[in-house]
Amino acid sequence: MLQVEEAQALVMAQVSAGALEAVPLADALGRVLRESIVAEHDAPAADNSAMDGYAVRAEDLAVAPVTLDVIADIPAGHPTDRTLRPGTAMRIMTGAFVPAGADTVVQVELTDGRMDRVTIERALPRGTNIRKRGEDMRAGQVVLRAGMRIGPAQIAVLAGAGKRNVSVGRRPVVAILSTGDELIEAGSPPAPGKIVNTNGPQLAALVREAGGIPRPLGIVPDAREATIAAFESALESDLVISSGGVSVGAYDFVKEALEALGAETLFWRVAMKPGKPVVLSRRDERLIFGLPGNPVSCFVSFHLFVAPALRKAMGQESDWFPPTVRARVTSPLRAAGDRRLYARAHIAARDGELLATPLTSQSSGALTSMTGANALIVVTEDVAAGAAVTVVLLGAIGG
Ligand code: AMP
Ligand code: MG
Repeated sequence: MLQVEEAQALVMAQVSAGALEAVPLADALGRVLRESIVAEHDAPAADNSAMDGYAVRAEDLAVAPVTLDVIADIPAGHPTDRTLRPGTAMRIMTGAFVPAGADTVVQVELTDGRMDRVTIERALPRGTNIRKRGEDMRAGQVVLRAGMRIGPAQIAVLAGAGKRNVSVGRRPVVAILSTGDELIEAGSPPAPGKIVNTNGPQLAALVREAGGIPRPLGIVPDAREATIAAFESALESDLVISSGGVSVGAYDFVKEALEALGAETLFWRVAMKPGKPVVLSRRDERLIFGLPGNPVSCFVSFHLFVAPALRKAMGQESDWFPPTVRARVTSPLRAAGDRRLYARAHIAARDGELLATPLTSQSSGALTSMTGANALIVVTEDVAAGAAVTVVLLGAIGG
């Protein structure tokens, strides 16, 4: 059986960055940038005021309190071509370009705020309250590197660098198969022996969250030929995920169907709980993930193996795996033999410390145990309450 890191390394070795496309800035959120962005112009384009106040020469304040003639008013967006002469001031608003001759801005709070002649209470060092030209971006400077995920801050930099369209990794289309004779779709009338297909919708949501385009292909019966046919059509997508049918049960056909389709099995068991039966298989350049049917196993194995692969496929160059932090565990946990346990937990910051609280149900079928979980505690040996543990983050740390 493979260790989790070995399995992750095998997955990542199979994935390379896929095709690019250009999208408008408004659609770039959550995508992976595939070009390095070079600033075309200095930003700010000129020295500008960081305060509402008066543009002056620092020298003129040496004898403060001092009264200066106010010879102009400079709102933001309306630069003046007048030069500030010694012994004068210009009223200036935040963001307005500083006039020639001025080297300092006195915030209005240090003045009497008058429009004709202003009295300034005290001296300020030269350069105070001035944002220098090019202090944010210099023309020719690389401001964003290819391979990073685009968040709101990157959108602002892209806009600031003058981009309207940006080159990003294409979203992989991910086929989703839900295997199991016991499955019915949500909303169908209850029937004896049947359970609702929750993995299908969950995987579609996980794919979407990771940046892919889900292609849900419905329920696949537990029969060899039907399983082969379903994978055959799923293999038209960029990547395939199935749930269920990967154990050693008499009706588990996923591995067999994949082999019949000429796919190569790269691994089929990983030393983890939940989630031991996880299949990675490949046909030509298509990867197939056979995830376990248990909803929690499916969820955990998606986070550890599939999401990182999707990130790399979109061109992300680092941070493929969910981050880990150290935290203090609030209740004891028992190890799961030689398989690494990923215990669902809620992690929150308390008094400057991270606390991880294991959720009460750790059953791998309990859907409700996933809703409060923003983390997985990594357990390799029994842990006492209060011990420090490694925690895989699945979302933002709670307060
Ligand atoms: P399997 O891996 O096929 O042996 O399934 C393991 C367990 O997960 C069984 O209890 C299944 O009923 C359940 N299961 C399998 N597929 C799904 C699904 N799509 N939605 C919800 N539960 C499932
Ligand atoms: Mg099954």
